[in-house]
Amino acid sequence: MDRLPAARRFVRRFVAGPVLEDALGVVARLNADGVEAAVTHLGENVATADDAAHATDAYLGMLDEIARRRLRAVPSLKLTHLGLDLGGPMCRANLERVASRGLATRTLVWVDMESSAYTDRTLELYRALRPTHSNLACVVQAYLRRTAQDVERLIEIGATVRLCKGAYREPPELAFPDKRDVDLSYARLTDRLLSAEALARGVYPAFATHDERMLDRARAAAKQGGVGADRYELQMLYGIRHDLHGPLRAGGLRLRVLVPYGEDWYGYFMRRLAERPANLAFFFRQLVRG
Ligand SMILES: Cc1cc2nc3c(=O)[nH]c(=O)nc-3n(C[C@H](O)[C@H](O)[C@H](O)COP(=O)(O)OP(=O)(O)OC[C@H]3O[C@@H](n4cnc5c(N)ncnc54)[C@H](O)[C@@H]3O)c2cc1C
Repeated sequence: MDRLPAARRFVRRFVAGPVLEDALGVVARLNADGVEAAVTHLGENVATADDAAHATDAYLGMLDEIARRRLRAVPSLKLTHLGLDLGGPMCRANLERVASRGLATRTLVWVDMESSAYTDRTLELYRALRPTHSNLACVVQAYLRRTAQDVERLIEIGATVRLCKGAYREPPELAFPDKRDVDLSYARLTDRLLSAEALARGVYPAFATHDERMLDRARAAAKQGGVGADRYELQMLYGIRHDLHGPLRAGGLRLRVLVPYGEDWYGYFMRRLAERPANLAFFFRQLVRG
């Protein structure tokens, strides 16, 4: 797939390019339009400590460049990229290095959520480091049955938390198989994260979705609760529903777009294809034409 020009062109719809410079160019353009960014160096499930160290260095370099260029952007990383499969202590040390650099440059560091095999370890590490690294942010997935409970524990510690629907294939015992239940869960969790109690405890919620009904729900819940537009944000992925950026910004809402870059795009790209059958059909048409 990597060698097919048609495949590479399609990948570029969702991925800024192979190097950090590509992502930072996109971030500068987003910032000029009043949109903030999160930057992901693509990669997951590394097999060696050296690979985890390289990923950590890439995030340290990214933080330095973000600060040097005064961009409104934060890193968004995966713990299995920092070596979670190779051992908790190593991953913790790597995350601590990135989070400490983020503290020094006053930048949030967002820890993505991966498949359910990592949920406990990711949330445990988040809770362990958050007291010393207040710039750490985490993610919960509305499709998991456990998430309502996880959210209560995150509210207790006043977490900075992104709510997404969830992008991995999970068994029905763990995740709602029906999209309607996922959407219902997303709406309920939105209300909870915007509740007076959550905000009083210092929760800063980010609603990551391209679903207009969910975006409307977040806006309506905030309005009903008298929650200011600076107390929460909306997040989207690079290359998806760009047409919504202008109207959301014009409505005075805070918007952040996640911009991925790097050569290791396969997993990320496949999740974007799987989310939307129309993408798959379009992709195969491009391949045949190519
Ligand atoms: C900023 C951000 C960070 C994320 N971080 C994580 C994470 O850490 N862990 C995790 O598991 N998931 C993460 N996700 C992915 C998320 O879980 C969903 O898989 C993804 O956002 C699609 O769900 P949706 O909320 O947009 O709703 P959907 O109901 O899937 O889609 C709503 C509409 O959005 C558009 N759309 C959605 N996906 C696509 C696509 N791939 N291509 C084109 N159009 C599309 C379509 O118009 C669709 O009708 C993240 C998403 C965002 C926006």
